[in-house]
Amino acid sequence: MALKHQAPRGTRDLLPAELERWQWVEARARGVLARYGYGEIRTPMFEDYELFARTSGEASEVVQKEMYRFKDLKGRDLALRPEGTAGVCRAFLEHGLASQGRIHRLWYMGPMFRYGRPQKGRYRQFWQIGAEVIGTLAPGADVEIITLFVDLFEAWGFRDLTVAVNSVGTPAIRARYGEALRQWLAPAREKLSADSQRRLEENPLRVLDSKDPQDLAVLGERAATMPKLLDALDEEARAHWTAVLARLDAAGVRHEIDHGLVRGLDYYTRTTFEVHDRSLGAQSALGGGGRYDGLIEDLGGPPTPGVGFSIGLDRVLLMLEQRESAAAPAAGGVFVASMDATRIEVPALVRALRREFTVDCDLEERGFGAQMKSAGKSGARLLVLLGEEEWKRGEVVIKDLGSGDQQAVRREKLEDTLRERLRRPQESPAR
Ligand code: AMP
Repeated sequence: MALKHQAPRGTRDLLPAELERWQWVEARARGVLARYGYGEIRTPMFEDYELFARTSGEASEVVQKEMYRFKDLKGRDLALRPEGTAGVCRAFLEHGLASQGRIHRLWYMGPMFRYGRPQKGRYRQFWQIGAEVIGTLAPGADVEIITLFVDLFEAWGFRDLTVAVNSVGTPAIRARYGEALRQWLAPAREKLSADSQRRLEENPLRVLDSKDPQDLAVLGERAATMPKLLDALDEEARAHWTAVLARLDAAGVRHEIDHGLVRGLDYYTRTTFEVHDRSLGAQSALGGGGRYDGLIEDLGGPPTPGVGFSIGLDRVLLMLEQRESAAAPAAGGVFVASMDATRIEVPALVRALRREFTVDCDLEERGFGAQMKSAGKSGARLLVLLGEEEWKRGEVVIKDLGSGDQQAVRREKLEDTLRERLRRPQESPAR
């Protein structure tokens, strides 16, 4: 049968079995973020196109090629958000958060949209979780953000991560460095992709960010002589960088310097960082971030430094699937089964139990044998059986579906008993 509609290219449906894992990932993240004292912020999924064009940079790949830009019925120039930070900073200004305290710790989670070529780990709608510290230039903020970044991965079961770090300095430093980069690449100009030849004119740093195999080959060949951004830092940027590195060491965060790490968006200043996992193939970045000290000012606000990161949840989930480090199984539920005479009691009992427990039952009210089969498949740990005789006496039977043990309890003691039995470690099946 030919289907009339499919999910648009580059988008996916997440079905219940997969979402269990997603929810586990989200719940673990919420726990870490709460303990770090970050507050959640939710901003619209679309904003003025101009907001992204201005902050991400006209020459960035995201703005030039990947933007879902559209006009609404009144002709407003809008875009689906390709990333979260611009919207957070816009909201920060719009609601005058600066007047409510100097330092703000915020986090967000939600879908982002980029019109890239879909492949493993790259989608047109994908999920990011991100965090921002707005309001301080202190190296301590960079370090807290990087520590939080690593701790999220650890909460998801990743171990021994190494964070790639670099400093991209200030816009003035980058302009000087861009010139050095242009000269360094000039002899190989013809070998670069058409895009990178254009980037070389508009924004040479973007060449370092190219994923084009042709460009990667040129960069690889010339790597030994590549000018380094760190060498171009002025005194202030260097002091900041050294302070960040010292504190990362002190905090026990494993890191290594990556001179080519410039990040794909123009708003970054000073510290930048990323984490990759090569087993993901070409789309290996799991997350990254950095400082954006000029962004809020660019949006018309007072000079307000910030630092943040975002993590691609689709890729985190891919990694977890690869490692099969699945979500902890649900703590075991209850299946309510009935006899002909007690069938009518099921909806009320199930409803009452669902106030506290995960409860399943047979919606089709089939015979006892069919109900028992469903109970076995449901993954429930305990069966609550409404036997005719027991029900008349005001009792129900609880059966452990693993061990087969049975116990009759008074209806009014049912919740207490279930609570107590589900707390116990699971008994092994009877042999
Ligand atoms: P970026 O802001 O581009 O560094 O993105 C942050 C993270 O989001 C990346 O490290 C990826 O994990 C994820 N990401 C970016 N683009 C996509 C995409 N098209 N599909 C899936 N994940 C993405």
